[in-house]
Amino acid sequence: MRNDSFTQLEKPSHQKAPPKVMNVVVLVKQVPDTYSERKLSAADHTLDRESADAVLDEINERAVEEALSIKEAQGGEVTVVCMGPDRATDAIRKALSMGADKAVHLFGEALHGTDAPATAKALAKVIGTVEGVDLVIAGNEATDGRSGAVPAMIAEVLGWPQLTFARKVATDGSSVKVERETDAGILTVESGLPAVVSVTEKINEPRYPSFKGIMAAKKKPVSALSLADAGIDASEVGLAGAGSQVVASAPKPPKSGGVKVTDEGEGGVGVAEFLASEKLL
Ligand SMILES: Cc1cc2nc3c(=O)[nH]c(=O)nc-3n(C[C@H](O)[C@H](O)[C@H](O)COP(=O)(O)OP(=O)(O)OC[C@H]3O[C@@H](n4cnc5c(N)ncnc54)[C@H](O)[C@@H]3O)c2cc1C
Repeated sequence: MRNDSFTQLEKPSHQKAPPKVMNVVVLVKQVPDTYSERKLSAADHTLDRESADAVLDEINERAVEEALSIKEAQGGEVTVVCMGPDRATDAIRKALSMGADKAVHLFGEALHGTDAPATAKALAKVIGTVEGVDLVIAGNEATDGRSGAVPAMIAEVLGWPQLTFARKVATDGSSVKVERETDAGILTVESGLPAVVSVTEKINEPRYPSFKGIMAAKKKPVSALSLADAGIDASEVGLAGAGSQVVASAPKPPKSGGVKVTDEGEGGVGVAEFLASEKLL
């Protein structure tokens, strides 16, 4: 469900052109479930994805929801694009069961440990294999890598405008307008198409896949692309192609019990002293 007060792209009825169908690509990532323990592998300090349950990143469910709303308003097609291990097909099927039409899955052992810039270049190549893309919708930040940079980097590689951290999106098929909430206020950003948009958790409430949707998703086409199929050289991705390396990692120290202040009349002073010692005062 979308909060739709933001539609200034509307033209007076006598000038309304038929809605232009749109080809929307949604970038989805499979991430470790935030409720399962996430740890880094001792071998290469990358995320140990096997040891945790994996889910479709929730922010990507919202990106899918936004794409489906645009398709319902404009007509057209929604293609899911995912770069990930074999088991990322579960996340892809979830997006298809919500209503997306088809998917492209870039897979390959060599992708292990790929950094954010190389991820962006690889995804840009995959987007290039999808015909006539009008709009790319991504999440503003993945819950595992959390760089929040991939959508902007993809726009840079494609040479397209980027409209990031959107809490509202409106398009009429020839331009797109987003509303971004910042500490300084609400910004309205607009550009022509094609473009890359990233959405925040305030954008919508994702629909739950219906039983019919789950069954239909099993038959929807998923094209599995190897690095060679996508024209990606293995030396450009993975740990081999990474510009930055995690060279050391240590588990987060267990949370300490905290400081207990017993109030025998001076409790307030005790709290103030603690806050001062933590430089919070
Ligand atoms: C703990 C940790 C630390 C890391 N530190 C760094 C680092 O300092 N520098 C660095 O370059 N890399 C780093 N990485 C690697 C980086 O996380 C990966 O390259 C990742 O694939 C892309 O970055 P992100 O998850 O931060 O993406 P974000 O930019 O946070 O993702 C935003 C959106 O982009 C899209 N997207 C991102 N990845 C994919 C994908 N694989 N398939 C489809 N869509 C996708 C999704 O829509 C997602 O919601 C780190 C990874 C981990 C796990």
